[in-house]
Amino acid sequence: MQSYQGFEQGPIRPPSEAASLLLRVTRNCPWNRCTFCSVYKKQKFSLRPVADVIADIDTVHRFTTQLQGGLDSRVEPTENLSPSEWTAFAAARNWLAEGMQSIFLQDADSLVIRPENLIAILRHIKMRFPQVERITSYARSESVARISDAQLAEIAASGLNRIHIGMETASDAILQMISKGASKDIHITAGLKAKTAGIELSEYVLTGIGGREFSREHAIETADALNRINPDFIRFRTLHLMDSVNLFAGSDVYRYQWTSDVVQAEEILLLLERLDGITSRVRSDHSYNLLQEIDGTLPDDKLRLMAILKNFIDLPPHDRAIFQVGKRSGHFVQMSDMERPGSRKQVEEICRQSGITAENVDEQLHDMIQKRMRSGMPY
Ligand code: SF4
Repeated sequence: MQSYQGFEQGPIRPPSEAASLLLRVTRNCPWNRCTFCSVYKKQKFSLRPVADVIADIDTVHRFTTQLQGGLDSRVEPTENLSPSEWTAFAAARNWLAEGMQSIFLQDADSLVIRPENLIAILRHIKMRFPQVERITSYARSESVARISDAQLAEIAASGLNRIHIGMETASDAILQMISKGASKDIHITAGLKAKTAGIELSEYVLTGIGGREFSREHAIETADALNRINPDFIRFRTLHLMDSVNLFAGSDVYRYQWTSDVVQAEEILLLLERLDGITSRVRSDHSYNLLQEIDGTLPDDKLRLMAILKNFIDLPPHDRAIFQVGKRSGHFVQMSDMERPGSRKQVEEICRQSGITAENVDEQLHDMIQKRMRSGMPY
């Protein structure tokens, strides 16, 4: 077994974990086969020994204790630090500045490790940082579904109080084509298990994942699964994909066809329309999403959220194109921003210079996003 390689952090976290300390429990993704996901491609999955994770926790504890004891967080620590200790020091300093309330366990699926190991890590966190209110992780439905109810309850009792699951869709046809490694039944089983254990559940839905062919099925099946689970959060993410990726690699029949913003808005509208009898908070909390103003709690806000989508769909085509370009160019955050004459003028100028019209806006934006993805720019 390899010896301790020092404090580590993985590449990603959910936006809602910006104030959290990131602790790496595993490296990369144990599945790594979803056709739309490039985050860990070519990276080998490995478990980190519990002792290494505990050493990371202790290192952060040492630094936060030093910093709280009067070491000025703006200056360098007095001891000579290795590069990984520097990473830990920076993490401790940032976390202290954020109030040390939450921890996010990385990478893609911390629930894949043996429950007793996860419990040992959680207990050590609680011992070192008893003030921590929230410990969260990404998890695959398949991993959660395999854990017994008793073990999941013990995991929750040891401190894991929120998991983020990438449901993406609950259409079995799409799940199979994108090699998600989960079925609708597995998603439902995992979601219900998490809820029964008292773990707060965030389900991610990927809009556009069905392409033109499966957009309606995606909305209907996903809404049905969410109705059965009643997750605490439903979070929308927009699929942006290089044209070179064969998203439906698991099918000999279908080839993925990307969808316009209007089709995706209709997809979300249908999904929301079908949500029934649940109390989830619905969020569109990623800057890549077109309609970030979708934010409300069911059932009270359902009609208001649906009205946001209808308003976008019903905009005159020219205004709709202006909003699409304004949102993607960072001039607008929400539709009402179109009423700011200065910003609107700037967006109209972009459209004029780039030859963007109501007729070609979807192709133009698609090409722009492709170029940005190729160059590694944010889009
Ligand atoms: S399970 Fe998650 S991290 Fe792993 S390949 Fe699929 S989407 Fe990517």
